[in-house]
Amino acid sequence: YFSFEALNLNEYYTDLEKDAHHMLNVMRMSLGDTFRVVDKNKNVFKAELTNISPLTYKTFEKVEVIDNQLHKTVICPLLKGEKFDFMIQKATELGADAFLIYEAEHAVVKLDDKKRKNRLTRFEKIIQGASEQSKRLSVPTIEFVGKLNTIDLTRFDVNLFAYEDLSFKKSESLIETLNKNKKIDAVSIIFGPEGGFSEKETKLDELSFVKLGERILRAETAPLYMLSVIDALWTK
Ligand code: SAM
Repeated sequence: YFSFEALNLNEYYTDLEKDAHHMLNVMRMSLGDTFRVVDKNKNVFKAELTNISPLTYKTFEKVEVIDNQLHKTVICPLLKGEKFDFMIQKATELGADAFLIYEAEHAVVKLDDKKRKNRLTRFEKIIQGASEQSKRLSVPTIEFVGKLNTIDLTRFDVNLFAYEDLSFKKSESLIETLNKNKKIDAVSIIFGPEGGFSEKETKLDELSFVKLGERILRAETAPLYMLSVIDALWTK
């Protein structure tokens, strides 16, 4: 139904029909309009809409390759009510690349598989909308995982564990830790639920404990604080 010249984006976009709807009905694009597309190798092209039905466009100029960007995974529990929706929307604007929703020991919200599936659909919609609104070149992924200790943390260069116990001697300032790790490719940022981490969760290997200022932040504020600081330090 859709025909794309020059680039086959089927592997990159998950929902072509939705993209077409967004381009034609929401953005009200018309023939000859230009826009940017990103292929799965993170090459960015200028493109021009050449036909509306079926939606067809041609790419005509490579403008950028997205590289050397720090990949940020937010590892967080589900939060109450609308707070999680708010957090993922803002975190997407602030540059998060992936969300892993873990089962916290002190979790307030617990969902069965069916409810999780419904939530994921809603979360993906929020993330897609925030990506488009903020003109991101990639859309973050989101998935449910098990308990914190089941996540393979060795795949990240650094795991920044936001620990709220301000008297905890092993916590460093965030800026200090990031400045020591400027040459990394992938970082995880790990947050506790409304009730904080259990002691067991703080005992994992691979953690770099960081404190976020001298105040206790709400669970939905903490990731946004951390992503803002990282973005400010990594923006050239
Ligand atoms: N139960 C905790 C208390 O009252 O002390 C508060 C937990 S806080 C609402 C939720 C999460 O945000 C924490 O588990 C932590 O990951 C993060 N957080 C909040 N303030 C922080 C701070 N000042 N430093 C590091 N992490 C913080």
